[in-house]
Amino acid sequence: MMDLIRRAAEDLLASKCAVALTGAGISVESGIPPFRGKGGIWERVDPMEFGHIDTFEKDPGKVWRVLIRDLKEIIDRAAPNDGHKGLARLEAMGLLASVITQNVDGLHQMAGSTDVLEFHGNCAWQRCMDCGGKKRTRDVDISSLPPVCACGGVLRPDWVFFGEEIPPAALQRSRQLAMRCDVMMVVGTSAMVHPAATMPVIARETGARIIEINPERTPLTGYVSDYLIRGGAGDVMNALVSELESMG
Ligand code: NAD
Repeated sequence: MMDLIRRAAEDLLASKCAVALTGAGISVESGIPPFRGKGGIWERVDPMEFGHIDTFEKDPGKVWRVLIRDLKEIIDRAAPNDGHKGLARLEAMGLLASVITQNVDGLHQMAGSTDVLEFHGNCAWQRCMDCGGKKRTRDVDISSLPPVCACGGVLRPDWVFFGEEIPPAALQRSRQLAMRCDVMMVVGTSAMVHPAATMPVIARETGARIIEINPERTPLTGYVSDYLIRGGAGDVMNALVSELESMG
């Protein structure tokens, strides 16, 4: 693994514009289970059913009880881990421009990354389905579900449910970054959810080097990515930051 860490450090040092694309895997070490793989709420909740806008529109109270309330509790307790902190450190070292994240947990911002594109929205805010007004999730009264806005409309997380469009600004800027970057680090994503998984493909087609960090292979491995550093995001980012620091 150290050869690949060295290679990634050299690629980052040679790069003029590096970006990261992150997925649920980077938050696993913070106690938030990913969709694919073992653990937590996803073993009893089918994300494709309960994470779909049609299910929410049909019965918002049920989706709040089965999915959102638990996820909110898990996310409320979570703190950034060495993976998030490592990416923030790379930004502080001038080696990483932006983070495009599929996650809704806000942990990159908490770790100190300043340019974070939330591809799938976030769980920190709730939005009224009638008036569009927003309220911080922690200020929402969930004693009765679904929670409602002052206008009486149902509150929904400000994230992107399956079946919904990606926020146009996030999509457009992510595409621009994918086209402009010369290195893309793809950390903790199974690369199965589109169009997020298309970003490394765009980056590759426009000449960027693609570095994957993941304990497992993904559909990108060997096709789109130049190399896979196999391991957990925290360990790999710690090793990468140490290597860069030792290189001066
Ligand atoms: P995914 O659940 O499909 O895949 C997780 C990936 O992370 C896998 O490839 C797995 O091998 C890898 N992984 C597991 N442990 C890891 C670790 N310690 N370090 C690095 N990688 C690790 O995740 P996805 O590709 O992001 O797609 C799932 C969708 O679900 C996303 O769109 C996301 O919005 C949403 N989601 C978000 C959260 C969150 O906000 N934290 C959590 C679950 C799901």
